Amino acid sequence: MASIEAAKAALSVVEVVGGSVRLRPLGSRWLGRCPFHEDRGRPNLVVFPATQTWACFACGAQGDVLDFLGRVHGRSISEVLQSIAAGDTAMPPPVRRTVAGNVPRVDAGFRAWMRTLPLAPAHAAQLRARGFSPEALRRYRTHRPGPAPDAVAGAPGFFQTPSGAWWAQGPAGLLIPILDPDGRVAGAQIRMEGPGARYRWLSSGGLPSGAASGSPCHVARGEGATLWITEGPLKADLARDRLGVTVLGLAGVSTWRQAWRLAVALQPRLVVIAFDQDPDPATRAVVRAQADALSQACRSSELPVARASWNGLAKGLDDALRAGAAIRVDGQGYASAENGVAQKRDLARG
Ligand SMILES: [Zn+2]
Repeated sequence: MASIEAAKAALSVVEVVGGSVRLRPLGSRWLGRCPFHEDRGRPNLVVFPATQTWACFACGAQGDVLDFLGRVHGRSISEVLQSIAAGDTAMPPPVRRTVAGNVPRVDAGFRAWMRTLPLAPAHAAQLRARGFSPEALRRYRTHRPGPAPDAVAGAPGFFQTPSGAWWAQGPAGLLIPILDPDGRVAGAQIRMEGPGARYRWLSSGGLPSGAASGSPCHVARGEGATLWITEGPLKADLARDRLGVTVLGLAGVSTWRQAWRLAVALQPRLVVIAFDQDPDPATRAVVRAQADALSQACRSSELPVARASWNGLAKGLDDALRAGAAIRVDGQGYASAENGVAQKRDLARG
């Protein structure tokens, strides 16, 4: 089960409440009709992004994002947490996709937005410390909420103010474009500032003319006939840069069905699962169960599957590659140019 703090950090109160209630901006806050009482006339529900809380000034209902989900779906907080852990999309957040299928428009919108943004020196330094090359830094930007060009219409993370102008949602942070198999931008994740390095989808579901992000799987396109699957878009980008192969970056291990669907579409010679090796045994067991499920699904679709592993303290595939650890692939030996598992031999030596 997800911890309460982790679950809260992964959800935006504006997006979650906005999934059930039509919200309009009111200064730095959001206003809508309370779903917990007969809210006629002037709307009484106020959402406070700064504190990630909400309150109804008529009936007195109030709380954080989990309280809202529990109340609106009639479930306990522990049931809400279970649904989040299980990746149950029928529960939180109620997602409305107003632009489903309009991929070229979303791609054009994101690219127009990214052209207006710099990459802050602090973010560039963080990326270099993670092992990215100077050239690779061009893929990322520093996002901030504020006025946006009209071209963003329909892209997740943007909405229209009452005057009709387009506006980018928060939070501020490192913008990581999420690419589809054709290299088009399908969404974006924001790596937020501060300790813990939390990630959040850029999303505007429920806001005026807004669109929810969904949680698409990132495709870092490379060469060769093997397909690697890891967790997180930055990790996938770095692994592709280092190994040369195509790497999928899941938004979370519980979303493995997306990787499975993409694998079936891409028909690689071999699927390599490279999820995190978490030091915490409980977390490791959860991750292993999801990897087992993904393996089984791939085998049932006649796709050969192998697991990657590495020695040492490295948690993720990216940490292992940066540390120069040897990456073993079950039944294939070490990742190397010879076996086609990877292409850059020098990086596969420990
Ligand atoms: Zn109320």
